[in-house]
Amino acid sequence: MSYQRIRYEEPTEGVARITLARPEAANAQDYLMLSELNAAFDVAARDETVRVIILAADGKHFSSGHDLSAVAPDMDLLPRVGTQCHFDAPGTEGYMAREAEMYLGLCWRWRNLPKPTIAQVQGKVIAGGLMLVWPMDIIVASEDTTFSDPVVAFNVNGVEYFAHPFEAGARLAKEMLFTGRSLDAEELLQRGMVNKVVPRAKLEDAALEMAAHIAKRPMFGLTLAKQSVNQSVDAMGMYTSLQSAFSLHHVGHSHNMEVHGKRIDPQGIEVIRAEA
Ligand code: ZN
Repeated sequence: MSYQRIRYEEPTEGVARITLARPEAANAQDYLMLSELNAAFDVAARDETVRVIILAADGKHFSSGHDLSAVAPDMDLLPRVGTQCHFDAPGTEGYMAREAEMYLGLCWRWRNLPKPTIAQVQGKVIAGGLMLVWPMDIIVASEDTTFSDPVVAFNVNGVEYFAHPFEAGARLAKEMLFTGRSLDAEELLQRGMVNKVVPRAKLEDAALEMAAHIAKRPMFGLTLAKQSVNQSVDAMGMYTSLQSAFSLHHVGHSHNMEVHGKRIDPQGIEVIRAEA
């Protein structure tokens, strides 16, 4: 397969690595990138020789989030994985369907891939960046990594994959959302959101070493272990919580459209830039 926004490699036996390859735009995500990511995850999932999947990124920053400059693409040109429809319907109907398909739908799909996944992250991971990192099973971060979701400044609740309470814990989730503060890798290592923190120069090797170690175990055992943990979190209500927050996210978008004529509060970008 040929890709424009990502790369796909098999750096060592049993390991596939998918790399966001748009460093000139800090790996901002447009629908093409998300669609290619999904295709690459499928390739890795279906390849019987692959046991572990690494998600990495080129450049200084893992991802600055959604590409806010991207024009809404024709959904008929993208392969779809869910049963969403009416993407071009006016009002909330079409926009909610797009975000349900491209954000919540894809992320939940990746979260449930039947093989272990490792996020290899550096630099800034902002809002939509969390949406790629959190569905992975393990997070290996370089010391310079910071995680933030400042989009309350846009007058919405947070990024569409609203896993904050599960990933950061309820109290820290509120702080990160209310203040927009960046949390660094070391702080999140202590909180259990990050598995390992290494110097930037050792990041790629550290992720690969972890992947190669995991890949020595039998595939079915790994899948069963992953599903057991995921199902425990599901029993705590994770998917219901994600869907509920996604609905509120669209209340926010709809409110902004009524008040500002845009899906996000246009003042938000100035607030975020001033605090960056
Ligand atoms: Zn949204």
